[in-house]
Amino acid sequence: MKTVLVTGGAGFIGGNFSIALTPGGQYRVVNLDALTYAGHLETLKPLEKNPNHIFIHGDIRDRALVKTLLTEHAPDHIVNFAAESHVDRSIDSPGDFISTNVNGMFELLEAVRGYYSTLSGAKRDGFKFVHVSTDEVYGSLGPGDERFTEKTPYAPNSPYAASKAASDHLARAYHHTYGLPVNITNCSNNYGPYQFPEKLIPLLISKARRGEPMPVYGDGQNVRDWLYVKDHCEAIRLVMEKGRAGETYNIGGGAEMKNMDVVKMICAIMDELFPQSPHRPHEKLITFVQDRPGHDRRYAINAGKIEKELGWRPSETFPAGLRKTVQWYLDNEEWVAAVTRETYKGERLGVSGK
Ligand code: NAD
Repeated sequence: MKTVLVTGGAGFIGGNFSIALTPGGQYRVVNLDALTYAGHLETLKPLEKNPNHIFIHGDIRDRALVKTLLTEHAPDHIVNFAAESHVDRSIDSPGDFISTNVNGMFELLEAVRGYYSTLSGAKRDGFKFVHVSTDEVYGSLGPGDERFTEKTPYAPNSPYAASKAASDHLARAYHHTYGLPVNITNCSNNYGPYQFPEKLIPLLISKARRGEPMPVYGDGQNVRDWLYVKDHCEAIRLVMEKGRAGETYNIGGGAEMKNMDVVKMICAIMDELFPQSPHRPHEKLITFVQDRPGHDRRYAINAGKIEKELGWRPSETFPAGLRKTVQWYLDNEEWVAAVTRETYKGERLGVSGK
């Protein structure tokens, strides 16, 4: 059985990844998470009694702690999800993003570099550090522009995107300089179970359920490329197991959608699921709010490399994945209540993709 150190595994994607990785007896997950407002043990409830999942409450910025964990658990792979991830929050308080996404990444890489230098033989040959990143590092596309490839120059526009770009550069440099076997994955917008309800899709579902205004930034014409989170997790697993060291892989759903169309689809699903709802048609709840400063117009990923090299393809279409997601949020209102109870005060109303 192999051991994977997952950082940020109490968040949306890291939680889904940890849940997906543990059955089958192939992997033991050591899950390190600082439990910020975005990380919740409720997300890891399915793993509560699983002996192959160990949760550690701690911070990637704490190099001494990470070093101890590496020595104690001797992971075969490390997958880094730990980050501040919400663009709006990065506009309001960029310092947290620099602290975790840049300084935290540095501390983590330093600890891992030390650990890697102690490995030998098959353990060293098979070692992998996967850094999970975003398509936002590439900046914004015009309507007719080619989709982002791994060769697209970085042009981050928000403090969030800039901090992720910096972390990608550090990861790349640690491969180039120290020979650390790194992969970077740059993925498009994720959606699915356990996403914190400040992000577009879960927020809109919650608003529609309560009959509250469903906020859309600007003219609603911003385009995002949506990927069901479980497809993303499968791509990360493939990269962890088979990705060529030093390579970047773009991951996307091939599902470009205008925000306005996503909102309308959610309304239609809600109309269908709640024919007696007093809020029907839910489209009447749609409310335009002032645009996000510097709001990128379009993101779109060319996932040809991971498809060709690792045989990955998304299994979920956007309409089917969205329906599943709406149903999941309706079935898991307790999770939503638990994760929003203390920390989330709905500081900003408007939302975009992520
Ligand atoms: P999230 O905000 O839901 O989860 C982040 C997790 O990291 C939380 O559990 C939080 O507690 C933890 N964390 C934050 N700071 C930490 C620190 N200093 N030490 C340890 N843990 C810390 O984010 P997510 O949506 O799951 O995204 C995970 C990763 O994937 C991020 O790096 C993000 O940039 C990237 N990504 C996200 C998307 C998306 O659509 N959500 C798309 C592409 C890439």
